[in-house]
Amino acid sequence: MAIRTPLALLAAALTFAGTAAVPAATTTASAPTTERSGGSSAYLPNDLDKEQNQRLERQLAAAKAQARADKADGVAKAPAAVTTVYYDATDAPSFASEVSGTEQIWNSSVGNVQLVEDPSRATLYFEEGSSSNGSYYQGDGHGSGLIFIDYDQADVYAPLRIVAHETGHALGLPDRYTQPCSKLMSGGGPGPSCTNAYPDSVESAEVDTIWQYGVALRPAA
Ligand SMILES: [Zn+2]
Repeated sequence: MAIRTPLALLAAALTFAGTAAVPAATTTASAPTTERSGGSSAYLPNDLDKEQNQRLERQLAAAKAQARADKADGVAKAPAAVTTVYYDATDAPSFASEVSGTEQIWNSSVGNVQLVEDPSRATLYFEEGSSSNGSYYQGDGHGSGLIFIDYDQADVYAPLRIVAHETGHALGLPDRYTQPCSKLMSGGGPGPSCTNAYPDSVESAEVDTIWQYGVALRPAA
């Protein structure tokens, strides 16, 4: 089953902008407009996950290694600016409240990256529908790509947890299905009864580490 590709994503000029920092530094990165980089991560274990998870694990490990090296060198940790990831949820109208809730959850859990709804500047897109792959995130794990929310899965599993989990991938976290419900990135692993939609402190710290360098660690196209 082919992964769907919204034309809006292909056509969008992908732009990141720093905001809310003092001084008001602005970072902008260009991204491919003809092809989406990165693989897919799903809510439940399946074949989509393997390469993408390895990619996200490497990205996280690289960020942690950089942070350790900087600490050892006595380099100040402060990022140049909080990075804003703009999103467009126009194509996920049934899940508007879950997307909004996800924004609040992540923005209250991390400090180095923030989610803001603004379709005119979006690099991250939410879309709803039916897919044999269930819900998934497809993209580079660094603020761009597509979060697809599957109707059947959202009837069985907690929709807010699904949306927050897939957004966790967009912010750089890999799947960890065998972990407990207290972990957001265990996804559907703990089963449908798990409704926790918040990252724990370790997951939040990992996202902050990944975004400590703004767009600098964004994978090459
Ligand atoms: Zn996942």
